[in-house]
Formats: sequence, C-alpha cells, structure tokens
Amino acid sequence: MAILKIAQMGHPILRQVADPIDPNAITDAAVQHLIGEMYETMLDADGAGIAAPQVHCSVRLVICTFEDGVTVLINPVITPLSDEKISSWEGCLSVEGMRAMVERHAEIRIQYYDQTGTQHDRIMKDWNAIVAQHECDHLDGILYVERCDPKTLSFNTEFSKYAAGLGEE
Ligand code: ZN
Repeated sequence: MAILKIAQMGHPILRQVADPIDPNAITDAAVQHLIGEMYETMLDADGAGIAAPQVHCSVRLVICTFEDGVTVLINPVITPLSDEKISSWEGCLSVEGMRAMVERHAEIRIQYYDQTGTQHDRIMKDWNAIVAQHECDHLDGILYVERCDPKTLSFNTEFSKYAAGLGEE
C-alpha cells in the first residue's frame, strides 16, 4: 500500500462535486485498493478522517474515525435531524497547519454503503456527526474554512499558545 499525496487548498480537485461509486463496483479491486491506500494515508497524516478528493480521486468515498472505530462510507447521504448546532475546533489534512471553530448540525441521519457493499442507515451525534459532516463536505467541494467563524482561524502554533481550551466543548 502506498501513502498518497494529499491535495492542499487551492487544488481544483478539492472544489469538484465528486462522482458516486456504482454499488456493484464496491468490491472491485480498484475501489478496495483505493480504500486501503486512503486508510494508510489517513494514519500516516494523523487524520481523524479522509475523503477521496483529498487524494486526487473525485469519487464519493470517505473514511471516518468514529467513537466506535474506523468506518468506510461510500455514497453517503446526510440529513440533519434538528436545528441544534454544535461548535468545535476543526482542522483538515488539506489545510495544513491551521484550525478554526466550526458550527455543525448536532444530530444527523447518515445513509451509506460500507466497504463490503452493505447499506447502513444510522443516527449520529456530537463527534461522530462532526467528523461525518466535515468529510462528506469534501464530496461537494466544500472546505471547513468557508463554514468556520473566520475570526477563530489560527495557525496551530498560535492555537497551542492562545486558544487551546477556549471555546472547546
Ligand atoms: Zn478535511
């Protein structure tokens, strides 16, 4: 398995709407290979999640580290379940060295296929909901920087000095 190069903000692939994957092709070698390489790349980069467009592949596939483990989501569809919002500090492997406070839906329904082609329909809250929304945004060409409170945008070095502990849940 190779560790893939991660596209950085400004690369046009991060702004494309990614294509769905044919559910019948999920078990094909090409998709399984991509999942394996994305997983290795996420671990290497210390990410909580990774989306295929971040590794220059414009398809609707993300990997998220949820509270109950690493989960592959293919063709995910998110439906917010309430107007309640939660804010937390987010960073992104495609926006190296920065973070900011981002407001997200507190509770969502998410429907997706896993890496075996099995369909899932789950309710997610808090951390799981935040990670899922961040990663699935990548499939629509959206980065957290346009959802964040711009006044909180911080370089990690300054975040550690001045912001750690402030505003966190
Ligand atoms: Zn990201």
